Amino acid sequence: MKRFYCDCGAEIFFENQHCGKCGRTLGFDSHSNKIIPIEYRGHEYYVSKAGGSYRLCGNWIDFNTCNWLVPREKPHRLCFACRFNRTIPDQTKSGIGPPKNFFRWYRLEEAKRRLFYTLLGMKFRLISGWDDKENGLLFDFMEDQESEGQIVNSVTTGYLAGIITINSKEADDVERVQARSVLNERQRTIVGHFRHELGHYCWDKIFCHLPVAAFFENVFGEANLNYQDSIDQYYKKGPPKNWHDGFISAYASSHPSEDWAETWNHFLLIYDCLETAYEFGLTSAYPSITDLSRSVLMWRELAVTLNQLNRSIGLNDAYPFIITRRVEEKLRYVAAVINEYINSVAAVAARSKTV
Ligand SMILES: [Zn+2]
Ligand SMILES: [Zn+2]
Ligand SMILES: [Zn+2]
Repeated sequence: MKRFYCDCGAEIFFENQHCGKCGRTLGFDSHSNKIIPIEYRGHEYYVSKAGGSYRLCGNWIDFNTCNWLVPREKPHRLCFACRFNRTIPDQTKSGIGPPKNFFRWYRLEEAKRRLFYTLLGMKFRLISGWDDKENGLLFDFMEDQESEGQIVNSVTTGYLAGIITINSKEADDVERVQARSVLNERQRTIVGHFRHELGHYCWDKIFCHLPVAAFFENVFGEANLNYQDSIDQYYKKGPPKNWHDGFISAYASSHPSEDWAETWNHFLLIYDCLETAYEFGLTSAYPSITDLSRSVLMWRELAVTLNQLNRSIGLNDAYPFIITRRVEEKLRYVAAVINEYINSVAAVAARSKTV
């Protein structure tokens, strides 16, 4: 994540709607990939110092779950990120206590926007299922259905046919820590879920058509292995004893497609962290898609620093994973796939400009 500054000079943050120093309204412009101060000009329009003209996202106005802007000339009511939603957690439920669905949705959107920020920064082209019914992406944020305190219909977080479903209770800290403990995971984060499931989507709808896809099996193994059998086996027997040698997480050993999604998830995590680290002067260079070795080298050092800082605070390690040589090879493949895709998008854009 880059660092951003208000017109008043104060540092402002990706998640903010107002400057903490001068109170200016802030919004995220997905075109420039920056959070910017804006000034109200009436009739729901805002302008930036650079001359941009915007509306607030409809989900900002209606629910306060967003801080992204819609360029004034666009016909959409929702921002780029919110237009990928198909189902949102029910906001009409009332009851005693805080509106839990609001907080769940808010946290899910925050994580989704951070992931989109990283992808936009890479010039990664992502299309919503509303704009491309065949290959676009949509999100369902769903909740378990309960009757008299019992779950009668539980929602599984996962990916299927262009739709990423997230069980909204993943946004609850207690639920997530409990699931992490039951599943014996080293880390379980909301943004991690988004990254992982997006990995499945991208492979299914985008990457599998690239020439580099022909090498998937050399890196991750037999992709056509029966998925359900493999997953059932994993939950019955657990990971192989030496899983650390070849996999970034125990779950990655369950099936080649899960190995792909987990490795892709870590690639994006490392990319985001290295960008942030460079912005704060902790590393010597930005992360690179084409020089994976350098990025991994920087990340290994930074991860140790992060873990030691966390231990000083009294928290668990921030990055409790080991990037072995074998895992680094898998990360290199993820980088090659992303690089090929970004280059193909750029080539198409250049062609359409010359036509
Ligand atoms: Zn300010
Ligand atoms: Zn929005
Ligand atoms: Zn998965």
